[in-house]
Amino acid sequence: MTRFAWGAASDTGRVRQANEDSYLVVDGLFAVADGMGGHQAGEVASHLALETLHSEFTAAGTDVLVRAVENANHTLVSRSTADPELAGMGTTLVAMALVEAAGRDAIGVVNVGDSRLYLLSDGELAQITEDHSLVATMERQGRLTAAEAAVHPQRNILTRALGIDGTVLVDSWEILPVIGDRYLICSDGLFNEVDESRIASTLRRLADPNEACRELIRLANEGGGRDNITCVIVDVVDDAGRDPNADPANRVRNSHTGGDLTVADASSAEPKAPKVPGAIRGSFTWRVGVFVAAFVFVILAGFAFIWWTGTKTWYVGVDGNNVAIFHGKPGGVLWIQPSLAEDSELLFANVPQAAIVDLKNGVEQPSLDSARSYIDNLIEQNAKTTTTTTAPSSSTTTTIAK
Ligand code: MG
Repeated sequence: MTRFAWGAASDTGRVRQANEDSYLVVDGLFAVADGMGGHQAGEVASHLALETLHSEFTAAGTDVLVRAVENANHTLVSRSTADPELAGMGTTLVAMALVEAAGRDAIGVVNVGDSRLYLLSDGELAQITEDHSLVATMERQGRLTAAEAAVHPQRNILTRALGIDGTVLVDSWEILPVIGDRYLICSDGLFNEVDESRIASTLRRLADPNEACRELIRLANEGGGRDNITCVIVDVVDDAGRDPNADPANRVRNSHTGGDLTVADASSAEPKAPKVPGAIRGSFTWRVGVFVAAFVFVILAGFAFIWWTGTKTWYVGVDGNNVAIFHGKPGGVLWIQPSLAEDSELLFANVPQAAIVDLKNGVEQPSLDSARSYIDNLIEQNAKTTTTTTAPSSSTTTTIAK
């Protein structure tokens, strides 16, 4: 015997004045209808359709379900013909019911319009029903992509609805019930505002069907809430009424994205299950800590290296008229500028010709002592030049100095 657990929620949204959606939730029969028509006619249409469906679904067969939808259509057409206030009213209708097919349980599904039935099985979401809308037809014909259809300005134009014509074509399916499968019936106010990957992750994350319905409606309102939003979630559960996906161990196994790992049921009888999310959360924190420490270390090491390069070197250069020793790199390193360590007695004017260009660029030395030795060497060279050559050389250099 197939058993269900379910939840439902409906909301006017953030723009519309009234909620023209209706839903039906009785054991073994679940449906959503999205009504249309002015002056509350939409509300009447969706409500009347579900009322008729409920009363006409008298035996557990998909053909009975289809006939119940056809009868709902007749009811709507005759009411709108009789009452001018209700003229032009119509509604979508999507329903699932426990039926019998070839001597065993099955889930019968019927659809007219653009409300939808989705099936979440093994963590994967699939749309079972086909939309009877202009954009869906154009998409099937290859004239629109799914992305274009999702934002098309005429996406609310239906090609099939209840209450419009005396005859209506009803789509139907039969699906084998599998314990753990989750069904979502919803109006377009949900999937026009929330993309399917978000719907799927919400259905995977929240085991409680009522909580999942409320969260989907919250997301639709967050996305704009431009239409009425209705969700019915039906879980196929085991004989004890348990949804196997409510067990964290299964939830982790079924999860492809890892998003469900935040769900940890503390009351679970399975002792190992809650440890899985905990362990993953723990290692995550540890890894982040190591990463941050390594990052900070690299940054500090970089600063230290620049500081070391910029300050732990010396060079001999020119300070005004004198040859001088500087602490740092010629031209500086990033924000670290060289500083004057000491002036020498050697005038730049007396520097031997061969060293002039080098000194202007700065001659690097490994230590203060070696810088001093370098200058002593220049003084010595200068002394030799002045004693072995004639005066014009020094008078020429003196002129340059002035
Ligand atoms: Mg709608």
